[in-house]
Amino acid sequence: MLKDIEKLLIEGNFQFQSKIIQNPEKYSFEKKIPKYPILFLTCMDPRIDVRRIFQLDPGDVFILRNAGNVYTLDMMRSILIAIHKYKIKYIVVLGHLECDMTKMNLKKLREELPNEFLKRLSRNYSDLLLELRNFFKPFDNEIRNIIEQINNLHKIKAIFPDIEITGMLYDTQTGWIFKSENFRDFLIHKNHLKIYKGLLYEKNQQLSKFLEENNDKEALIELADEIEVEELDLKEENDSLLIEETKITNVREDKLQKSVDNENASFQITMPKIQVPKILIPKIKIHLPKSVKDSDD
Ligand SMILES: [Zn+2]
Repeated sequence: MLKDIEKLLIEGNFQFQSKIIQNPEKYSFEKKIPKYPILFLTCMDPRIDVRRIFQLDPGDVFILRNAGNVYTLDMMRSILIAIHKYKIKYIVVLGHLECDMTKMNLKKLREELPNEFLKRLSRNYSDLLLELRNFFKPFDNEIRNIIEQINNLHKIKAIFPDIEITGMLYDTQTGWIFKSENFRDFLIHKNHLKIYKGLLYEKNQQLSKFLEENNDKEALIELADEIEVEELDLKEENDSLLIEETKITNVREDKLQKSVDNENASFQITMPKIQVPKILIPKIKIHLPKSVKDSDD
């Protein structure tokens, strides 16, 4: 079995070497590393490929990973080196939807993990569950975890005040990245599905603009086709739903923006009576993360 794994990896490296031979310039590193003064703290989830998500190259940024993009003592060690030696200026906590750290069952772990490990973790067995929690650092909600890790990273900022820290959320299903100003939207208790659809709708609008600006006609046609298909599908499904969705999209920007700025704002959205002449909903798959569904109380 290990032989098969080694074969897979070594053959992959042969393919890499073949690409280097064909395009040596593409694979040569700039002298200055990293190219951008950015460090990502992200999850070890194998669906996250930071370079691919942001279309970066080797040597561009630092990427630190662990289970749940959690700031730990060892992360602090690496971050300090990156700041001190490599002049990092920006730290991005990149969390993601459907993180398995939200699904960790500590009681089950307590039953399953080898006794030897549990003994080492807690010498007196006084509160093994608490010890397990402290050790594995699970969390209930990906967005709240990002916010918590940003808060933890302010210990670094206390030492290096010039460092800027932000959070981003990755949707492993759609490939979209959401900035921290959208986090409040994800945490709103009601209408998760509609709000998430609204966010994706906005993203598709921005994408359309981006493609226009970059004169990417092929991708624009693909996107337009998807919009048409979805428009038909949804019309057949339910007309009233469509109208409601469009209203959400139209009112969400200013209504929710106010909420973002106000901790105590009410997140109830009052629907204005507006007539929508044309309804365009991009074809978007909605995958609500479990944590978001669960918090709908
Ligand atoms: Zn994860």
